[in-house]
Amino acid sequence: MNIIDGRAHAQAIYHDLAQQVQQLKRQPKLVIIQVANHQASEAYIRGKIKAAEAVGIYAEVQNFPESIEQNQLLTVIAQLNEDRTVDGIIVQLPLPGHLDEFIVARAIKRSKDVDGFHPENLGELLIHETLLEPCTPKGIMTLLEREGIELTGKHVCIIGRSNIVGKPIALLALQANATVTICHSRTNNLHQHTQQADIVIVAVGIANFLTDDMIRTGAIVIDVGINRLNGKLVGDVDYDSVSQKASALTPVPGGVGPMTVAMLMSNTVVAATNQQ
Ligand code: NDP
Repeated sequence: MNIIDGRAHAQAIYHDLAQQVQQLKRQPKLVIIQVANHQASEAYIRGKIKAAEAVGIYAEVQNFPESIEQNQLLTVIAQLNEDRTVDGIIVQLPLPGHLDEFIVARAIKRSKDVDGFHPENLGELLIHETLLEPCTPKGIMTLLEREGIELTGKHVCIIGRSNIVGKPIALLALQANATVTICHSRTNNLHQHTQQADIVIVAVGIANFLTDDMIRTGAIVIDVGINRLNGKLVGDVDYDSVSQKASALTPVPGGVGPMTVAMLMSNTVVAATNQQ
């Protein structure tokens, strides 16, 4: 069984991106907007800053109190949109309940939307392709490509239909000529779909959700989930049983997570290259 090492792939990508950054006229700049201080968000932001340093991107965190009003946040974003020294803007999720994530995502200029959450970037993905793809789906596709896993003609079963993972990965897999099934909480007989798949992508958010009886022998399993279980970080896959039956599996931590951060860096370099 091949344990797909997302960390090693991410490191190799940083190396390539650092060379691309050297060719740019000025250092790319990424602004990370943080509203309130969530412990989990802090850890994610630290990871992004570290990755940016490895690539040569200047990452700046702009921190705002939980009480910030939506209009104030939109004003901040509008100023960053106009600032020609800023190449990429992300808003660290989740946001407090009074702030609308959809409206905030739409406020970021498309060309600086390095998370790939802007409705126009997602819409373009539906029609053909977009310059700034959402990071987790892009990371999964990059991982499969770098592992030499061809998607043409393969049956890819995705569990989860969120706007940031499930739906866009379905579109990307379709573009890569896979036959795609999207499952969700209302899917009947889920295991009948997953058992037929060559590749199962799980993005549900429930620890140990996918068990070995749900996959066929030799399936490739991509675990997107991030869950805390007894103080440990685990994915959506029951690792012990699935690893006995799958031919390849992404671990948690160390699989899709590092690739998501790597793709944020990749998108920032794309945005900077375009702007410059
Ligand atoms: P959402 O909560 O937005 O979506 C979860 C999806 O799972 C929904 O479509 C839901 O169905 C489906 N689902 C829930 N329960 C079941 C069930 N019993 N059977 C089948 N489907 C079910 O989550 P996200 O897509 O944002 O994230 C999913 C997981 O991936 C989380 O653990 C998150 O932390 C992680 N994540 C990891 C990233 C990484 O970089 N590794 C990046 C982003 C997310 P329905 O639509 O019907 O409610």
